[in-house]
Amino acid sequence: MNNILHEVIPLSSANLIDPFGRHIDYVRISVTDRCDFRCTYCMDEDVTFLRRKDILSLEEIVNIAQTFIKLGSKRIRITGGEPLVRKNILWALEQISNTPGLEELTLTTNGSQLKKMAKSLSNAGVTRINVSLDTLSPELFEKMTRRDQFHQVIEGIEEMALHDFKRNKINSVILKNHNDNEIADLAQFALNRNMDISFIEEMPLGVITDHDRAAAYISSDEIIDTLKKRFTLNPSVLKTGGPSTYFDVENHQGHIGIISPHSHNFCSTCNRIRLTAEGRLLLCLGNEHSMDLKPYLRQPEEQDITLDEAIIKSLDLKPEKHHFNLNEEPQILRFMSATGG
Ligand code: SAM
Ligand code: SF4
Repeated sequence: MNNILHEVIPLSSANLIDPFGRHIDYVRISVTDRCDFRCTYCMDEDVTFLRRKDILSLEEIVNIAQTFIKLGSKRIRITGGEPLVRKNILWALEQISNTPGLEELTLTTNGSQLKKMAKSLSNAGVTRINVSLDTLSPELFEKMTRRDQFHQVIEGIEEMALHDFKRNKINSVILKNHNDNEIADLAQFALNRNMDISFIEEMPLGVITDHDRAAAYISSDEIIDTLKKRFTLNPSVLKTGGPSTYFDVENHQGHIGIISPHSHNFCSTCNRIRLTAEGRLLLCLGNEHSMDLKPYLRQPEEQDITLDEAIIKSLDLKPEKHHFNLNEEPQILRFMSATGG
């Protein structure tokens, strides 16, 4: 181990600052790249998953999460792939949520396991859940996810609402001529249940064969224009730590958010980094800058620096911004499922 480096880098939250002065206090951890759905914008049907031995064990994931918390991270989001298909995930969630210093443990899920797991997730210390739901039509759901599980997801959302989560949210990716005629209905669905909803612009992550991403592009401004025909929206002060910009909705408790990686670049306020299922710390969703943390877990004696120091050093790699262009071949070949949304 390099003691000099250990001495000059005191381990504190002040170290989680990138070269552009952004305080990185939010870590998203993908616990698996596997999924029980095959959403058309996310992956193809016959996608190749990582080999099991290349995926971090739950103990390794907990170790990294606790190291981040020690270094000052206040919020951790568990994602995937589908995080709830990972065996024994509740054990890992409990370990992470019980770590002193953590303020929020959140989860992103496709909802397929929520009916049976919502109560256990609440008991394990998950404070907020985002569920992905792109349509209210069972037929379109099957087309967009390539799975016939619409009713299971809706029942999961209803079950989640019965438990003690702080604020739940629906995430909807909107594609032109696919589900753009459901924008207001999806918002109504969430608002009727006092949930928030965020509408997401599709990102060119990985090569897909289902549709032309450029042809399916619809901007957040168009989405907001559509919503304004049914709801009265006012800019909100709500911030949840992610990339959503929120609106208050007259006569409703829930908020409507937009996530606009194309039309309104949000990089200047980016406070997030992601850990892939194989232990690569990814500094930006739209760039390949990363640091492989696995050697610091599996062969620590062969490394010059510790895991803590490697994490701090990796922040130097965080790029200023992403560049997405739907009209070019995808520059980022990994799928969102490998990265963690
Ligand atoms: N399986 C879980 C789910 O679907 O919520 C968690 C992982 S998923 C990769 C996280 C989020 O990324 C989902 O809301 C999904 O809709 C979104 N997503 C996946 N691929 C995307 C893409 N190419 N562009 C924009 N959002 C995407
Ligand atoms: Fe699975 Fe989520 Fe990707 Fe859909 S968006 S295929 S549910 S990882």
